[in-house]
Amino acid sequence: MSTNLAEGTAESPASARLPLPGEELYLALEAKIRELRPKEDLAPLRKAYEFAAARHANQARRSGEPYIVHPLSVTHILADRQMDLVCLQTAMLHDVVEDTTTTIDDIRREFGEEVARCVDGVTKLGKLDLYSPEERQAESVRKMLLAMVSDIRVILVKLADRIHNLRTLSHLSRERQERIAHETLEIYSPIANRLGMGKIRVELEELAFRYLDPDSYAEITQEMELKRPVNEEYLNRVRSEVEENLAREGIPARVEGRVKRPYSVHQKMRRQKIPLDQVYDLLALRIVTDSVKNCYAALGVIHTEWHPIPGRIKDFIAIPRPNLYQSLHTSVIGPEGHPFEVQIRTEEMHRIAEEGIAAHWKYKEGRKGYLPDEQQIAWLRQLVEWQREMRDPGEFMSTLKVDLYSEEVYAFTPRGKVIALPRGASPIDFAYAIHSDVGNTCVGAKVNGRIVPLRYSLKNGDVVEILTQAGHLPSKDWLGLVKTSRARNKIKHVIKAVERAKAIEIGEKSLEKEARRFGVYLSRIHRNDLEQIAAEYGCSKMEDLYAALGYGKYSARQVLQKLAPETPAPEETEAPKPQQPPERREEDYVVTVKGVNDIMVVLSRCCNPIRGEPIVGYITRGKGVAVHAATCPNVQNLMYEVERKIDVEWARKFEETFSVRLMVYAEDRPGMLNELTSVLFKENSNIRSLEAKPDGKRGGGSAVIEMTVEVRDQKQYQRVASAMRRISGVRDIERIS
Ligand code: MN
Repeated sequence: MSTNLAEGTAESPASARLPLPGEELYLALEAKIRELRPKEDLAPLRKAYEFAAARHANQARRSGEPYIVHPLSVTHILADRQMDLVCLQTAMLHDVVEDTTTTIDDIRREFGEEVARCVDGVTKLGKLDLYSPEERQAESVRKMLLAMVSDIRVILVKLADRIHNLRTLSHLSRERQERIAHETLEIYSPIANRLGMGKIRVELEELAFRYLDPDSYAEITQEMELKRPVNEEYLNRVRSEVEENLAREGIPARVEGRVKRPYSVHQKMRRQKIPLDQVYDLLALRIVTDSVKNCYAALGVIHTEWHPIPGRIKDFIAIPRPNLYQSLHTSVIGPEGHPFEVQIRTEEMHRIAEEGIAAHWKYKEGRKGYLPDEQQIAWLRQLVEWQREMRDPGEFMSTLKVDLYSEEVYAFTPRGKVIALPRGASPIDFAYAIHSDVGNTCVGAKVNGRIVPLRYSLKNGDVVEILTQAGHLPSKDWLGLVKTSRARNKIKHVIKAVERAKAIEIGEKSLEKEARRFGVYLSRIHRNDLEQIAAEYGCSKMEDLYAALGYGKYSARQVLQKLAPETPAPEETEAPKPQQPPERREEDYVVTVKGVNDIMVVLSRCCNPIRGEPIVGYITRGKGVAVHAATCPNVQNLMYEVERKIDVEWARKFEETFSVRLMVYAEDRPGMLNELTSVLFKENSNIRSLEAKPDGKRGGGSAVIEMTVEVRDQKQYQRVASAMRRISGVRDIERIS
């Protein structure tokens, strides 16, 4: 890195202290920033530099340089791109928390919340082992990165950090070089691409290529070097010809000639399985003009002069790339039959192509606080808008959309595997997501190295370590802590198995006790006889009958009488004595499966059946019986597998309520909401949510009110609905799922 001290020394304090390590590089940095932003106060940057230099004192890089040279160089890279002060401070401090005893709180105290948040983000990214041999994981890592990094400056610093590490890669072992180069191409350059940062992407790729495939790199650069004089001469000739033609047509333009970079040549050769001299766009011209109209005009000029290669004209102005890249591309057969590529764009398109999202964090004079959050969000929204307009939504767009509105959090195992969970998920969900054994034996969890309670709700980027203990079993309280159905079902399954084992034990003991009382020896009764009796009770195994006894379904006396008819029959009045029936959760009793007691039943989410309405059960794989309203459209689709259909009925045990979502289409008049809610009030039905808005489809004077209410059964729902319909101005009521 070249440093220019002439400008820097003028700014240095006149004190007679020893220079800090890297001070020259710092002064060059200040000078560089001053050049384009003379009015900016750089005191906060100097403070960050001095802080970092002090914290990294006595640390050295592999090259032997003082460590501070690295953060300084990273800051230089970002200063070259005109990044704002927070971004530069973050760059300067980016390794302080990771590599020294400094904490985020120290940073917050010294540099404020914004810088602390960014440094924290960079530190967290650094902790992740982003490179995993599982190819498919790269995608989720990228997704997660975008989701967790609320501030894009974190990524900018990370990318600059990576660029500097690649520039100084020669000091590392071959193995490390390969790994870092690979990770760069897998993770970082796609991110730069997605964020539209063409310049950074190219630099990352070219640097990484050199280390990843040194042979191909050498081969391509050698061959290109050989042809360079010829290529340059050719490009110059074509360029001046284009300049003349454009000027003649009155199109203001800047024309640049360039030779394709080794890595992109390599990719093209590999992808199209062609030798170097068949790469069409090895030579390229770029025309930057003032307006969209002139872009097309320039394209016309090019095509008038040279013959376009069919199928190579691409209009990314009309249909921008997902990362907002816009340009016209064409390849033409130039003088002497050599093909070359032409890219045509406006200045604004050029800026977006080179800088992408980073353009939004550029320093602007007279602007304080740089970019407000709303603008950042607006930018992301714009991306989403673009996606809607495009015929073929790009991968980045769909990813981004998912991330912006997703209800998911991404957490990590200590080895860097991504686990996607619903928002609010707990370490228990995480444990079950890994493996049901891990879930069952979970006794605690560490998040980012600290012990957390099991009710902790996981955040994006948390690194979660599950503490297990062999033989441990899940407790019932866990059902209140989990968000995933997987965890819930596994827990229920174990609890039921434990309860059943207990019931079998109780049942067996009580039968033995009863038998002893009447001098009957169970051990003398033939196994077949026992099983026959069990069958009489509808049980296929004796165990099932013991369980039924344990749950208190039958009395031991009844069963004994069947086994040994000589014992006195139980008196009519003697009620069966329940032997501590295991507790059950209320929801298990909402619906029962006819004739069977201990099958898990779940009200299906798609139709939310309410009490009293006709229902059908459907045996799911591993999730018990799903109960649908008979009218649910899904039922028709599911029920073709007749053997999985099962009869269910509403249980009478509990006074529970059901949520119903309603859309009320009504006249938008004062008092309407009041009248609607008073219907519910009279019916003693709770309102869980209510939202009223103007009805866009029907226009002025119409409103649509969406509400979720609780009802006890279908009859009550029908009463509520018809009372609402009677309100004057209510046009329609729709129950929705
Ligand atoms: Mn670093």
